[in-house]
Amino acid sequence: MRFSAQRLQQAITRREFMPFYQAICHSATGAVAGCEVLVRWRHPEKGLLRAGLFIDSVESAGMEYALMRMLMDEVLADIRRLLPVPQRPFLLTFNVSPGLVMAPVSRHWLLALCILLRQAGVTPVTEITERQDIRLYPGAAEEFAQLVQHGLQFAVDDFGAGHTGRHLPGITQAAFIKTDRRFTADPTDPASVRFIDDTVRLARVSGARVIAEGVETARQAAALRARGVDYLQGYHCGAPMPAGLFYYPLGTQPVPAHV
Ligand code: C2E
Ligand code: CA
Ligand code: CA
Repeated sequence: MRFSAQRLQQAITRREFMPFYQAICHSATGAVAGCEVLVRWRHPEKGLLRAGLFIDSVESAGMEYALMRMLMDEVLADIRRLLPVPQRPFLLTFNVSPGLVMAPVSRHWLLALCILLRQAGVTPVTEITERQDIRLYPGAAEEFAQLVQHGLQFAVDDFGAGHTGRHLPGITQAAFIKTDRRFTADPTDPASVRFIDDTVRLARVSGARVIAEGVETARQAAALRARGVDYLQGYHCGAPMPAGLFYYPLGTQPVPAHV
């Protein structure tokens, strides 16, 4: 689907976008360690649209920053409304493009947002999406290093697919590596097993933790757990859902020893 800049701007003004939250679980215990924010569009004619259907239009219209400002306002409101989160620390990851990190205005916003999220009681993690090639941004290595120094934790998203995994400067500074869901699909596929093992090894060396995406079955979860993956995310652990539905069952979860 393609949407014009004018229609997207209208949707931001009318606050038609909203955050959904998808659980990220400890692979060892299944307890919820945090969540990823995924934007949804309550489109008046087309119904509820998932991000994959409109985020390309948002980015090519240069409106990611405007969208993210609106969206993260809603996230902060959700957290404040629904606190206390039972588990601390509680990871809250959200997606940003390399372009948003690299533009000075949005970079300062990002740092300020992370302070607000921490004050609201969650541990913010930015997931760097792979749709843009980070090589387009000279100086990216220095910028990422500075952001990490300012306390920003980031995750390499879709590792093994797209541009980001190979080219994200300072991958060794990533706090999390999220393996692309193609490596989750068949836990017996030798190439996937090799990739997961290599990623876990890389993470152990750099001090990062590994999140496997797209986990849909108990069999996939067991295979990833056996290979040392730290966290699981996917329909097996829970679909993306609105704040109220997401937070409600958290009170019944065992409290993990650490995140
Ligand atoms: P992503 O960050 O890789 O997000 C995971 C996508 O897989 C989401 O699609 C999610 O709904 C879907 N998913 C989750 N679990 C499973 C599963 O078990 N199996 C399968 N087959 N799919 C699963 P969604 O929400 O359509 O998002 C698509 C992409 O749009 C995201 O990929 C992310 O790169 C981007 N995106 C999402 N929210 C935002 C946002 O707030 N800002 C920006 N800039 N990008 C966003
Ligand atoms: Ca992501
Ligand atoms: Ca991903």
